[in-house]
Amino acid sequence: MEYVLRCTGCSLTARDYASFRCKRCGSVLEVSYDYSTLVLPAGFRGERIGSRKYLPFLPVRSLSASLGEGGTALACKRIPKYKGVNLFFKTETENPTRSFKDRGSAVEITRALELGFDRIICASTGNMGMSLAHYAKHAGIRATVFINRSGNPEKIRRIRGFGAEIKAVKGDFNESLREAEAYASSSSAFLCGDYHYRKEGQKTVAYEIAEQLRYEVPDFIFLPVGNATLLSALYKGLKEYMMLSLIDRLPRIVAVQSSGCDPLVKAYNRKEKIGYVKPSTVADAIAVGYPTFGTEGITALSETKGYAVRVPDEGIIKSMRHLESLGIYTEAGGAAAFAGFRNMYEGSKRVFNGKTVVVLVTGNNER
Ligand SMILES: [Zn+2]
Repeated sequence: MEYVLRCTGCSLTARDYASFRCKRCGSVLEVSYDYSTLVLPAGFRGERIGSRKYLPFLPVRSLSASLGEGGTALACKRIPKYKGVNLFFKTETENPTRSFKDRGSAVEITRALELGFDRIICASTGNMGMSLAHYAKHAGIRATVFINRSGNPEKIRRIRGFGAEIKAVKGDFNESLREAEAYASSSSAFLCGDYHYRKEGQKTVAYEIAEQLRYEVPDFIFLPVGNATLLSALYKGLKEYMMLSLIDRLPRIVAVQSSGCDPLVKAYNRKEKIGYVKPSTVADAIAVGYPTFGTEGITALSETKGYAVRVPDEGIIKSMRHLESLGIYTEAGGAAAFAGFRNMYEGSKRVFNGKTVVVLVTGNNER
């Protein structure tokens, strides 16, 4: 599909396809397609799910950096306590580096190759760095990861194991992000991370959910929120399938954050602009004090009549154990969406009676 990069703040079109923020106002960019140029192959609906299937919806010519991401299971679990709810878990932990980040990495690394870069950099709390380091290694390009020096040691060790250079940052994720962006502006490396190309890769999870439910839209989709890229991507994917009449309505999206890091929950429920929150949570994957796609995330929630809920860390840990007992292995951040469902269900059981609920399990990299 033909597309331009457009500023989410002032709508200015970016001329440089390697830029990551608007030159005029500093807002993040979005891939804005000319949908009249979309060509779906015959038999598209019947094709097997997985990121390669969705190439016509992606801002790349091929998906040369793909390592088989996507196509993850949507498992229905009968849990006696939640009888009456059609409860499904989308296990993004089945991706090559055990997190949903791989969907975005395939697109970003492909784009880096198409634009002629031989080096990428990113800021990360862990999973992003691991995913990009793995994809960069397979594509034969160098990777540098900016990460909080007191971040998850196992994740840092594995990023190094993929051959990436680590830049240890004093401060939280937003400080790593500032340093990575400053570095990108003064170097010849392609900045990856929670930006527009990644969002395009991540929206494929929405297509898969729709297809796995035979184009019956679930009533609710619960997901954990850190930088809100997945949230805004999910919404974009669903809207595109609506536009193509593949689905006929939107589900309510429920964004879940830890009580120890809840900037989006605060902003959405108080109808305020997003403000910074100093992260303090065991769920390192979603410990983002100021979400890059926060404004877009709030739009996704309000346009789907969704909710934003916070859960204490102990609820996240309990949910992680509960998932384990169901044979679903995840890290704390990956269990947050289920914790959000459990909390909401306790407060309003009737709301979920007879409903179809999809819970995203986003990562499993703490051990
Ligand atoms: Zn702008």
